[in-house]
Amino acid sequence: MIDKVEFLDWTKELKDQGVQLVAVSKVHPVNKIKQVYDWGHRDFGENRVQELLEKHAELPKDICWHLIGHLQRNKVKDIVGFIGLIHSVDSARLLNKIEKEAAKIGREIPVLLQLKIAEEESKYGLRVEELIALCGKIANGSYPHIELRGLMGMASFTDDSEQVKREFEKLSGLFEQMKSKYFSQSANFTIRSMGMSGDYKIALRQGSNMIRVGSSVFGPRPGY
Ligand SMILES: *Cc1c(COP(=O)(O)O)cnc(C)c1O
Repeated sequence: MIDKVEFLDWTKELKDQGVQLVAVSKVHPVNKIKQVYDWGHRDFGENRVQELLEKHAELPKDICWHLIGHLQRNKVKDIVGFIGLIHSVDSARLLNKIEKEAAKIGREIPVLLQLKIAEEESKYGLRVEELIALCGKIANGSYPHIELRGLMGMASFTDDSEQVKREFEKLSGLFEQMKSKYFSQSANFTIRSMGMSGDYKIALRQGSNMIRVGSSVFGPRPGY
């Protein structure tokens, strides 16, 4: 696990560049999260709803929880009350469900649209046409309880850094297109969530301003 000085230096350097670090705590126990919390960090990411709910219950309530993994529609109601940012909105049906559950409790939910950028076969994420259609609907007011904050993408798991660069470039390009076409008046549409421990340096050069790093903070994940 990273030590305190290293972590604080790193997060300060990122912050000075306008980049938010999300500490991905999946699989790691709450005592390790609490340690990073005690260093002053508040943004943590989980990829499974059940694990997120357990950790949310045990840890301080001022943590901003990021859901970064695929979200099933029947689990939306479990997290809408407290989630800080859903990175993984990968279908219109899921967004419709979040809108519906958010309306019930009268809360606006911050979300990112997850775009399929990997050239390799990847399971989750919107295709470009779907992204454009959804942004259009959001911009014309169809989702009053959704606060669209930006886009998220995962690059291919490969040593080919040129390929990873191309994939991140694709997301940045689409971000700019969506911004100018639909959200030029919106102060909320700002986030490009891209980059993990293995590829965040490439992501930052391609315009990422939110990196999701797990092993670089907490060490290797047991059993992964
Ligand atoms: C696990 C995970 C990460 C962090 O992975 P590391 O390689 O440990 O940094 C980032 N994003 C998503 C979507 C993940 O599932």
